[in-house]
Amino acid sequence: MSLCQSIDTLAMAFLDDELVVEERRELELHLLTCATCRHHVDSERAELQLVRKALVAPPASDLLKARLAGVLDREDRDAARAGRRRSLAFVGQWLLPGAATLVAAAAILMFVMVRPPDPAAVGSVTQDAVRQQTRSMPLEVQGASTGPWLREHFAPVEPPQFTEPGIDLVGARLTSVAGHEAALLKYRVSIGTNQFTLTAVLIDGMRRDGLSGGQAIKVGDRTLHVHNANGTPAITYVDEHGMGYTFAAERLSPQELLELVVSSDLIGRAQQGR
Ligand SMILES: [Zn+2]
Repeated sequence: MSLCQSIDTLAMAFLDDELVVEERRELELHLLTCATCRHHVDSERAELQLVRKALVAPPASDLLKARLAGVLDREDRDAARAGRRRSLAFVGQWLLPGAATLVAAAAILMFVMVRPPDPAAVGSVTQDAVRQQTRSMPLEVQGASTGPWLREHFAPVEPPQFTEPGIDLVGARLTSVAGHEAALLKYRVSIGTNQFTLTAVLIDGMRRDGLSGGQAIKVGDRTLHVHNANGTPAITYVDEHGMGYTFAAERLSPQELLELVVSSDLIGRAQQGR
């Protein structure tokens, strides 16, 4: 059998460094003269590199945590100085060392970490929302006019804002989720050299339990739900006006996503009645 005929197997063994010295030398000589086999090995190598890249751990979770912690410390100092705005006070309470709630918060996060959400428990509305979030569709509005545009075309809501710097609202478009009017908001998250997209889908006219399922996480007197929708972590929340929120982000663990969502003004705003 010629080398050309067995190049499939040989290429894999070659790239996995499983050939003995003689075999390797013979193949290398052959590759010098046979363009077909050379091409085969090259494309196999490219594919292998893609797979390896995909298997690399998701980005810098420690970096994100360190940065969140830094921001929260700073926010807390500012809040203390400025007479404590309610949402900041809440976040500070939740995560600052020394606070009694820290233990509870740590327990919540451990719970999320050690028990990944059950995919079977994801509701159909959440599934549909996350499916929308992973599709790339053109935005209908971008930048600073996003808020006014949403109020005019969708519902009297404010886009969730994040206390964490480096999370910028890119824009929005209207959509529909499981028969409800909905708006998709896109945020750009920059952490160090990492850049990724965070999406929020706002779904109008949700029942209080309309986005339940996954794991219920109590944060203050609010209940968030952590889902795993076909491998994509998602956080859902329904406010007292029946506005549903579904957050999803590329490359984040459920815990990291939860930390980001809790760092938004959504919780504080909900407590003040929007
Ligand atoms: Zn060949």
